Amino acid sequence: SKRNHTARIFLPHLVASMEEVEETYIMIKPDGVQRGLVGEIISRFEKKGFKLTGLKLFECPKELAEEHYKDLQSKPFFPKLIDYITSGPVVCMAWEGIGVVASARKLIGATNPLNAEPGTIRGDLAVQTGRNVVHGSDSPDNGKREIALWFREGELCTWMPVQEPWLIE
Ligand code: ADP
Repeated sequence: SKRNHTARIFLPHLVASMEEVEETYIMIKPDGVQRGLVGEIISRFEKKGFKLTGLKLFECPKELAEEHYKDLQSKPFFPKLIDYITSGPVVCMAWEGIGVVASARKLIGATNPLNAEPGTIRGDLAVQTGRNVVHGSDSPDNGKREIALWFREGELCTWMPVQEPWLIE
C-alpha cells in the first residue's frame, strides 16, 4: 500500500515489522464528546504509541450508524443504539500500529463498563453499556471496513512520526 511504501523510503529498518501493522477505527461516541472526554481518550492512544491517520468531528447520519452496526440489527437494543450514536457529534479516528486492533480493545475495556478493568477507558470513565463512550474495531478486517465506511480517501494522512525509531525496533 501507499503507507507501507512511505515507511520503506524513510525507515528501511522497519520493513520486517510492517507485516504486523494494522489499522483500527476508533470512535468517541456522543456521550464522550458531551462529557468533555475527547482529549483524555485521544491521549490514551497517542501515549501508547499508535499513529493517528484520520480524525474528525462528525454528525453521523442514521443510515451510516445502521450500516456500522448492521451485525447487531436483530438485537432488541438496536433502535436505542442507533438513537444513541446519532444523538450528537462523534469523533471518528483511524489509528495505525503493530497489533493496534487488539491493543486498542484492551485500552478500551469490556463492553459493559462495570466489567471493564480500572485503567481502561470504559473502566475509568463509564458505568453503562448503553453509554460506554468509545468504539473500537474487533478485527483487522473490520478495522479496514470501518475506516472505509467512515472516512473518504482524502481524509486519511500518511505521515511518519519522528518518535517511530524510538518506539519500534
Ligand atoms: P463493543 O462495542 O465492545 O465491541 P458490541 O459489538 O457487543 O460491543 O456492541 C456494540 C455496542 O452496542 C456497544 O458498545 C454498546 O454501545 C451497544 N450495546 C451492546 N450491548 C448492549 C446492550 N445490552 N444494551 C444496550 N446497548 C448495548
